[in-house]
Order: sequence, then C-alpha cells, then structure tokens
Amino acid sequence: MAVVQIGRGLHHRVAAGHPWVYRNEILEINGRYGPGDIVDVVDFRGRFIGRGYINPSSQITVRILTRDHEEIGEDFFARRIRAAREYRSRAIPGAGSCRLVFGEADFLPGLIVDKFGDYLVIQTLALGIDKWKDVIVSVLRDQISPAGIYERNDAPVRDLEGLDRRAGFVGERFDPRILIDENGLSFIVDVEKGQKTGHFLDQRENREAVRRLSGGLRVLDCFCYTGGFSVHAAAGGAVEVEGIDVSEWATGVARENARLNGVEGVCRFTAANSFDELRRRERSGDRYDMVILDPPAFAKSREALEGAARGYKEINLRAIKLLNPGGILVSCSCSRHFAEDLLLGIIRDALSDAGRAGRVIEKRTQAKDHPFVLAAPESYYLKCILVSVV
Ligand code: SAH
Repeated sequence: MAVVQIGRGLHHRVAAGHPWVYRNEILEINGRYGPGDIVDVVDFRGRFIGRGYINPSSQITVRILTRDHEEIGEDFFARRIRAAREYRSRAIPGAGSCRLVFGEADFLPGLIVDKFGDYLVIQTLALGIDKWKDVIVSVLRDQISPAGIYERNDAPVRDLEGLDRRAGFVGERFDPRILIDENGLSFIVDVEKGQKTGHFLDQRENREAVRRLSGGLRVLDCFCYTGGFSVHAAAGGAVEVEGIDVSEWATGVARENARLNGVEGVCRFTAANSFDELRRRERSGDRYDMVILDPPAFAKSREALEGAARGYKEINLRAIKLLNPGGILVSCSCSRHFAEDLLLGIIRDALSDAGRAGRVIEKRTQAKDHPFVLAAPESYYLKCILVSVV
C-alpha cells in the first residue's frame, strides 16, 4: 500500500478529523498506486493519520475512510452501512424514507444512499468510492433487500473526479415514480426525472415546522420544486398557498402532490422565475402571511460568495416587503460556503432596508439523517431561519 505524507505543519486539519487531503498539502507519496487505490496517510513525522482512497487527478487527492489500520473491503462497507442504518433507526425511528448514507458524515466519503420507501437511490461521487460500487450494492441488497436500486451518477461533481455522468437502474427496472410518506403526507418522488436523487430529504423537519405555523395563513413558497413546503403548509391549515418554481416539470408534480393530499383547492403552482414573481407581486400589492425562500445554492464555490450575497439579499428583501405585519419569513440557504452568520447578516440588512423590525423565532438546519462533521464545518450546509416580521 502506498503512503501519502502530508507536509510539515499541514496535517492539523486532517488529523483533527477533516476527511480530505488536498493535493497541495502532500509532501510525497511512497510506493506504487493506481487511481482509486487505498493508501495510508501519515504526517510529516510519519505518524499514521488514517487510510483512504486516492485520486491523483483530483484536487481532493485523498479522502479518509478510517482512522484505524483496518482492511478496506466488503466487511468494512458492511460495518459502515450497518452503523449508518442503526443511527437512523435510533434518530428517526419509523421513517420510511431518509438519507441512509450521507457521505463524509457517515465516514463513507463520496457515497450517498437515499431510501425512498422500498427503493434506493445511490450516488458514488468520487473515483475511489465508485470503484466499490458493486460491493456497496451487494451489501445494500444483503442488508436491506430493496425492491429496486437507481443510480443518479449524473451529478456534475463527478467531472472533477474524471468520472462520466450516468444514471439508470442498477439491476431490474421499476416504475421510477415512487410514492413516499413524509411526515404523514404523500409525495411522488421521480428518481429518474427529479433533481439530485429525486427529493430533498434534508428539508423534512423544516417542512414540518412550516406546517406547525401555517394555520390560517396566506403562504408564498418560492423555489417550491415539487411542492414539499407548499403541501405541508396547506396540510397545516393555510388558507391559500402559491408555489413558484422555474421548472415546469416540478410544478406539474407539485400539483399532483397537492391532489394526493387533498389540498389541491388551496394550492396553486406557477412555473416562473421567483425573482420576477417576487418583484411583480411587490408592485401589484399582493401580501402574504408567510414567504418561504428555498433557492438552489447561489454560492457553488468560495469565489462566488459575493454574487451569492446579492442574490440572497434581493430575494430576502423582496420577501420581507411582501409580508403582512406579523408575517413569517422562512429563509433557507443550502450553500455550504455561505455560513449561517452570513445569512443572518443578509436578513438583518434586508429588514433594515425594508424599514421593518424582525425577530428570529427558530434557527433550523438539515434533518437528522444529514448529520454534520464538526471538523468539516462545510458539512453543516443547510440553514433555515424563521423570522417573525413586525
Ligand atoms: N423547496 C424545495 C426544494 C427547492 S430546490 C423542496 O422543499 O423540495 C431549488 C428549486 O429552485 C429547484 O426546484 C429549481 O428548479 C428552482 N429554481 C432555480 N432557480 C429558480 C428561479 N430563478 N426561480 C424559480 N425557481 C428556481
């Protein structure tokens, strides 16, 4: 096994628990290895830090799988996946759908496994984990006996690893439109045509929070995708819900989801740009008691932070202006580079620009099946701030 030595003074982050070794931190690599192979990582003095897989053509050259001298093979993956399942059955007992494996946070970097009812969707987003795909699939079949598995390896991050983009059934075909239960409500998850793995499981608890607060309210759900927040708001007693998403397909599924839950009379969905729609409603004098903002990641990299801040500022300001006195702003950001204090600062400035007072009534985050690693702060990526606006 090859040994990757980290340069003097550069090992602290990885030694403290961060799973990534960047190319520019490596002093030298001793021994032969091929792309995707398992390697040991040591510090400048030669002290063992961990064992992981290497991709010499990726900036993230090594991702640590274990801090022990254990063999990486089928048994290792079986143990890791069992531990991930055990945590979920303790933290969210009875959840029929959840993120079963959340990459780095389940000590399986690059691997995502989402469970939608009896079906699984998997992503192997790095070369070193992609090599183990067949083994992982066999472990999953062994432990869970899923009715079917779908691979959503069409994520752009695979480009950075020199991997192709692909999607399709792993083994037998099945109807890719799966009916799931979330918080006692029903949703169609299309694992083939949907975004990412088909459904944003990380917002499950935040949707429940919205349902709890929605009784009697007029709600605007911007970036609604397939209507997750909208349907929860309607189920919580909202008198009127408008959902907006740029995707015609998503708003079509959102309508189906509303119908499935008997709230089609309350919900209306429009395929349009949320920026334009917020502006239009401001001009036309439409007012709401709750505005939900759940945009895609505006900051895809650290360099994009400034542009992202402008985007977040604009939608938050417009949303605040649309709120009736006492209304609630639900402001989310899923950019891992856009930290919570940045978002809070944006909301503070937007309130001030709008001449409105506000108070944070809840600070929420990604659901429990998406734990985050303290040593890798960027794994705390989802912020959901609820503000009551006077
Ligand atoms: N709130 C959703 C998830 C939102 S994901 C849920 O709970 O499931 C972000 C969504 O924003 C995607 O569906 C994408 O199609 C949409 N989107 C991206 N840019 C947009 C824009 N400018 N206007 C409206 N929707 C947009």
